[in-house]
Amino acid sequence: MSIINTHAALVCPPGLGHIIPFLELAKKLVSHKKITKLTMFLSSTKNNSCKPQIATNIIQSLMKPDLFNIIHVIHLPPIDVPTNTNTGTKLAIIMRELIPHLCHEISTMTSPKPTMLITELFGSLVMPIAEKFNMSKFVFFSFSAWNVALALHTPTLDEVVEGEYTDQKECIQIPGCNPIRPCDLFTPMLDRNDQLYHEYLQICEQIRKVDGIFVNTFDELEAKTIVALRSGKISKIPVYPIGPLIREAKKQNCDDENRNYVIDWLDKQEEESVIYVSFGSGYTISHEQVKEMALGLELSGKKFVWSLTPPSTKAGDDHYLTAGEDVESNGVPKSQASVSVFPDEFYRMEGKGLMVMDWAPQLEILKHSSTGGFLSHCGWNSILESVSCGVPIVAWPLFADQMMNAEIIAKDIGIGVRLNVTQSANVVGSEEIAKTICKIMDKEDIEGCATRKRVKELKNIAEKAWSQYGPSFCEMTNSFVKIRMGHIIPILELAK
Ligand code: UDP
Repeated sequence: MSIINTHAALVCPPGLGHIIPFLELAKKLVSHKKITKLTMFLSSTKNNSCKPQIATNIIQSLMKPDLFNIIHVIHLPPIDVPTNTNTGTKLAIIMRELIPHLCHEISTMTSPKPTMLITELFGSLVMPIAEKFNMSKFVFFSFSAWNVALALHTPTLDEVVEGEYTDQKECIQIPGCNPIRPCDLFTPMLDRNDQLYHEYLQICEQIRKVDGIFVNTFDELEAKTIVALRSGKISKIPVYPIGPLIREAKKQNCDDENRNYVIDWLDKQEEESVIYVSFGSGYTISHEQVKEMALGLELSGKKFVWSLTPPSTKAGDDHYLTAGEDVESNGVPKSQASVSVFPDEFYRMEGKGLMVMDWAPQLEILKHSSTGGFLSHCGWNSILESVSCGVPIVAWPLFADQMMNAEIIAKDIGIGVRLNVTQSANVVGSEEIAKTICKIMDKEDIEGCATRKRVKELKNIAEKAWSQYGPSFCEMTNSFVKIRMGHIIPILELAK
């Protein structure tokens, strides 16, 4: 086997929603023998709580011991970011400030030095270091292929669209793809005067210069967009759909004393009777919304498991970069302060559900036969996990790429129902929440039946994606054939 590209450097932005899929990519690269050494660079912010030790613990818990000699984790120094900036801008600041630290780390590495740099969307701001160290450049999107298409096309949109994208009367067009409603656009595009939009434009420019793009999706999930990306009409950069890359669910043996109590509780419930609720690895919802949510769950009459980041006075993504602070092992609410935000009605529901403060064993919950629905903020990892477990989704997108993701699952592939959220209302009412939960879970609902059937079909397809010679397996193999040819052809030319 060629020994070109034996060492890859992965630069991972802070946040468990980034670290988890990046680690899965790392494991695939190593276990499929594409890479013989891999260095994962992790980043964090100065005043956050995603302490290096927590990230390391999570990585170690998700990694088999035989990989410890191949996958090395390096913590870059924490970066100071202004607290009042939005998450996207913070990520951009962090990535730019990491460049000198990365240069230092790479220049002091002993042989073999990395020959391949892989980052994610915001991480692309570090791409200039690839030129300095003569590395090939790759982006890994743990986002939809539709989002890849948007990123590749945004510099063109920037030239041709006048005024705010959100003021456009027509949908935003990308060659060969489904049009995007202006209100569903990726958050950085919602205000062209904001620093975040300018950061995003620079990121898109960097992405247009990479050697290849890995995307955490698969054909049946986004067939039309993948065809468009392969057609060369959006860009000539090779795009490799290698999803679903999700972690393996932990085995929950009955006699295991560390068995999670949520799983114990699920064991006692009826098949497909429980709705799992989560807004991702760090999003907070307001006190008012928590109350409506609790009332909505009660009204639906369904049992539930609710993974909740303690609410704040306002909804927002403030906790996003700090996710993982207090990883709760047994899920019992830790602080009385958090518990007191729940309305009295909530306690009427005792026995009907479980609250998991901060961190739930999401994949294990979704895999459990008692789970019959997932009320999700539509983070892309959550969608892939739900598809892989065959669980239909109540789509409640909040920000970032989530509105586009909700369109994919509700409109394109029919594995979820989108909650009807009035743009002007700050809070989604309990009746709407209850109605939508019942739609996907009630056996007699016709739309719900079709949704459940479709997600189970996709589950079967997803299972085969990474089997030997399955589509994602082949995409990764092809990508490395091309990468190696890219190195060999110039050498052959020189030898002529
Ligand atoms: N997650 C989890 N337990 C929780 C909340 C989140 O295991 O209580 C995991 C979830 O399984 C997924 C990731 O965190 O792998 C969240 O990623 P996603 O893209 O869905 O959302 P983000 O947090 O990036 O908005």
